[in-house]
Amino acid sequence: PTPIRAAIVGYGNLGRSVERLVALQPDMELVGIFSRRDALDTDAPVFPVANAADHAGEIDVLFLCLGSATDIPEQAAGFAKLFTTVDTYDNHKLIPSHRTEMDAAARDGGNVAMISTGWDPGLFSINRTLAEALFPSAEQHTFWGPGLSQGHSDAIRRIPGVIRGVQYTVPREEALAAARTGGAEISGKDAHQRHGVVVADAADHDRIREAIVTMPDYFVGYETTVEFVSEDEFERDHQGMPHGGRVITSGDLAGSRSTVEFSLELERNPDFTGAAMVAYGRAAARMRAEGRVGAVTVLEVAPYLLSPASLDELIARDV
Ligand code: NDP
Repeated sequence: PTPIRAAIVGYGNLGRSVERLVALQPDMELVGIFSRRDALDTDAPVFPVANAADHAGEIDVLFLCLGSATDIPEQAAGFAKLFTTVDTYDNHKLIPSHRTEMDAAARDGGNVAMISTGWDPGLFSINRTLAEALFPSAEQHTFWGPGLSQGHSDAIRRIPGVIRGVQYTVPREEALAAARTGGAEISGKDAHQRHGVVVADAADHDRIREAIVTMPDYFVGYETTVEFVSEDEFERDHQGMPHGGRVITSGDLAGSRSTVEFSLELERNPDFTGAAMVAYGRAAARMRAEGRVGAVTVLEVAPYLLSPASLDELIARDV
């Protein structure tokens, strides 16, 4: 069979991970990378994003490795008119309107727009739906971390005097136990604690700690700890992008109780998000080849379409 011709738009953390992961797929080849920048540190062909339309016939699936904050809302539909696309758009509240917009654009171009893949949204979404469907009355909780939160790290770095800073979100053990047993009310703020790691002059420590723990929206109401470290220690121990989390669902089944748990431990968030994106890219290309057009969410993709193995092989091996 002919390989799936893939391309990437946006060369940040996610774009770089997708590039490396596409190279490891038995059934994909990378046509090139579109970027707003002229020169990228890659051996792959780099195309100006403004010329994307010129490449429409050469690409089976385009990975939209763009930021969710502004890039995706501004640009994704334009790409969906030209290409079958995959994104990891993660603004949960706006996913329904993203779907409407991508559906119209993809239908216009005769393409598939695979939306909001990754792990949350993405693999967690599937697990929420799957586990919930098993129980007449499900109790469900999603926990994030231990992991690095980009938004909270940015908030810490904006405090005057902070030289370096990151924030880790950590699920609280008591809340995990309560979710597994069921029957307890757990709010988002009871479920997680927040840990800031900061480099700053000693004279600023007290003020910075106070600014963090009293920051509305981000930290107020959470159990928050702040740790000050040296520049060397920060450099050595806090450069990674670990993340993960779990979806815990439990409930009564006509007299007995069961618990379903799906968990992820990710040493590097963009590598795993990229892995999910690549698998959904394969599914998008296949669904398009079978005649599907429009927006598709992870809930609508049959699992075998994600795998490079054939359905017969998967049934013999995994069912
Ligand atoms: P980055 O900030 O690394 O990259 C975003 C864009 O910024 C790139 O596409 C790139 O565009 C531009 N860019 C990157 N580096 C530079 C640079 N040095 N100079 C100038 N521009 C640069 O974001 P990530 O790749 O880490 O994340 C992308 C999105 O993935 C996030 O917004 C998040 O929403 C989503 N995500 C989703 C998850 C899920 O589970 N669904 C999990 C994790 C992330 P260009 O090449 O055109 O300049």
